[in-house]
Amino acid sequence: MEYKTVLTTCTHCGCGCSFYLEVLDGDVIGTIPCKTSPVNEGKLCIKGWNVHQFIQSDKRLKRPLLRKDGVLTEVSWDEAMDFTASRLREIKETSGSDSLAFFTSAKVTNEENYLLQKFARAAVGTNSVDHCARL
Ligand code: SF4
Repeated sequence: MEYKTVLTTCTHCGCGCSFYLEVLDGDVIGTIPCKTSPVNEGKLCIKGWNVHQFIQSDKRLKRPLLRKDGVLTEVSWDEAMDFTASRLREIKETSGSDSLAFFTSAKVTNEENYLLQKFARAAVGTNSVDHCARL
């Protein structure tokens, strides 16, 4: 058996708690809070304690989906990104930057949220950015 722990950041909200994921023979089997983290100081909420469970869930989406002829179809990341970029460009050119809006997530890091708003403002040219925590 091969056992190791991997230090990482919780993806369930923007607080940024740290923990070690326990990995046994390639499977993530548990979560141990990081006692030296200045954010969570060895504590986790219930979502953090159980974060390892979604990683191997068979309900988890692991590939992008595009609707083709009304059916959600698994596609490559390249195809999904090309489609998204072309649609964003097309909408911006035909209807203007403010016809686009971006919605970020509490389930990514603060740094990822920062990058999304930067992309919206600097690359697309809109201030229409919101976050699911406001719901
Ligand atoms: S452990 Fe709880 S409070 Fe900490 S980042 Fe995860 S969801 Fe947020």
